[in-house]
Amino acid sequence: MGVIVKKVELTWLDRSYVWPIAQGMIITFRHFLKQIATPTSKRFTIQYPDMKKTLPKGYRGLHELKRFEDGAIKCVACFMCQEACPARCISIEAEEFSELNFTQGFEEKRPSVFKIDMLRCIYCGMCEEACPKDAIWLRNEYEVAAYDRLSMNYGKWDLINTYAGADGKARLTQSQESPATPSRPASTSGNQAGPS
Ligand code: SF4
Ligand code: SF4
Repeated sequence: MGVIVKKVELTWLDRSYVWPIAQGMIITFRHFLKQIATPTSKRFTIQYPDMKKTLPKGYRGLHELKRFEDGAIKCVACFMCQEACPARCISIEAEEFSELNFTQGFEEKRPSVFKIDMLRCIYCGMCEEACPKDAIWLRNEYEVAAYDRLSMNYGKWDLINTYAGADGKARLTQSQESPATPSRPASTSGNQAGPS
């Protein structure tokens, strides 16, 4: 059902615009005084970047590709996050690695390329939700800036090292990653089982 909105007639005081502006300034000044009287910890306005806001639990900031204690990446390049991403900003290329996977049942894939275009990302967390390996987390880093668009295209090593400093971990580089060895044992064929 429609609603009839009554037209508000402006008085001569309203039409002068002086009183409405004064009313606005009174409200602004009231908030200004309220902020001054509020303890710093409870203020809405903070002196950024000297002060940092306390983020709520579950805040979704920059992504991290998680790794195991030995530094190996947890991601198995299953493409679930890429499929779940509504912004279509994740691109992954998979590679096989390590002969250990054939004999000891280790995961046999990892990403050779893992990119997220942070300019398209909407930080919805769907990639984190979709990941079956708990390998991608959105954590609390929100200071994202760059001088050009290409720099906002974060690669695998950016994503692995996003929180390396904050977690007291050494930054990993490609040279420290175990080499990809897609060669299969000559005697094997078909599906490979775990350890016998
Ligand atoms: S947070 Fe959302 S938009 Fe960003 S990469 Fe993950 S799924 Fe895509
Ligand atoms: S981050 Fe998770 S969901 Fe995405 S490809 Fe890797 S294992 Fe799959």
